[in-house]
Amino acid sequence: MTEAIKTDVLIVGAGPCGLFAVFELGLLDVKAHLVDILDKVGGQCAELYPEKPIYDIPGIPMITGHGLTESLMEQIKPFNPTFHLNEMIETVEKIGDPEFRVTTDAGTVFECKVLVVAAGGGSFQPKRPPVPGVEAYEGKSVHYAVRKMEDFRGKDILIVGGGDSALDWTLNLNPICKSMTLVHRRDDFRGAPHSVEQMRQLVASGKLDLKIGQITELQGANGQLESATIKLNDNTTAQIKCDAMLPFFGLTMKLGPVANWGLHLENNLIPVDTGTFETNVPGIFAIGDINTYPGKLKLILSGFHEGALMAQKAVKYVYPDKRVVFQYTTSSTNLQKKLGVN
Ligand SMILES: Cc1cc2nc3c(=O)[nH]c(=O)nc-3n(C[C@H](O)[C@H](O)[C@H](O)COP(=O)(O)OP(=O)(O)OC[C@H]3O[C@@H](n4cnc5c(N)ncnc54)[C@H](O)[C@@H]3O)c2cc1C
Repeated sequence: MTEAIKTDVLIVGAGPCGLFAVFELGLLDVKAHLVDILDKVGGQCAELYPEKPIYDIPGIPMITGHGLTESLMEQIKPFNPTFHLNEMIETVEKIGDPEFRVTTDAGTVFECKVLVVAAGGGSFQPKRPPVPGVEAYEGKSVHYAVRKMEDFRGKDILIVGGGDSALDWTLNLNPICKSMTLVHRRDDFRGAPHSVEQMRQLVASGKLDLKIGQITELQGANGQLESATIKLNDNTTAQIKCDAMLPFFGLTMKLGPVANWGLHLENNLIPVDTGTFETNVPGIFAIGDINTYPGKLKLILSGFHEGALMAQKAVKYVYPDKRVVFQYTTSSTNLQKKLGVN
């Protein structure tokens, strides 16, 4: 059995609310590990709208999703949290009062006193393209993300989609592949104009075959793709030789494994006590978009407030005998020492 990582608190989800929770816990000397399915921190801000402006973070008139993520990472630096990215929390088992054993799909095992579910809308999952039988190739020759570019060196690659991910990977993988075809349903791309321009240059120089149409059929055996049939917009068909296909049709959010952790759910959200943000299971808290209570607003500022109150109760599980005194960061030299500013 894998040796468990022991931590005071395990936070499920490194979105803005999970990140800020590290700060509030840190002020109370509570250490946290965070797990996220994504390969980056920042949750929806980083994945869905990194370049878009946010206007309602208190005291910050305007900041982008990416900017907010960067600032939160800077703010929690003094508390040195440990991140486990590209991993999904799968199971949660109660082993003490409270103490939990938590496992990820990568086999990492944690033992924690407190679990903070900051899982937002749930797990981001790639949308499957509407091609019959595509499941049979997934993980072997159809990939929804590029984990290691080297895996695609010397391959005949078929990229599908018209957004930033499709264009970015077209540009990044083009120099190392054997051949590349980009398929999009219309000759109009949603990605950044500069990327569209670079993609057009690759087409002009003969390094990229751009097909406007839709994939209708895949051919191959035992999960290994050999070719794909494309119905072109002029009603002809084309047969493309390929040994790897990368469809980028966006992400959807599904509740995922959170549903199996013994927590009460209301419309796929976790009801909480608004004094502590604790769930029906003592020691398990839910903050941010994943929780529900009368008047809940799915705003980042709500999740920040929820994290502060959660920490006040969580510290009692981690240090049952410690008296917690309320302090301001402005005037407490004790808190300032923890923040490394005094
Ligand atoms: C286009 C858009 C614009 C927005 N604009 C604003 C705005 O202007 N102001 C505002 O306040 N809010 C805005 N929001 C809403 C805001 O982004 C959310 O309220 C906020 O992201 C919620 O933060 P969170 O940390 O609760 O969840 P999320 O940001 O959703 O992060 C949750 C994280 O948990 C991870 N996760 C889920 N399940 C698991 C699991 N089992 N194991 C491991 N990891 C898991 C996910 O991968 C994700 O990274 C906007 C949202 C969108 C989509």
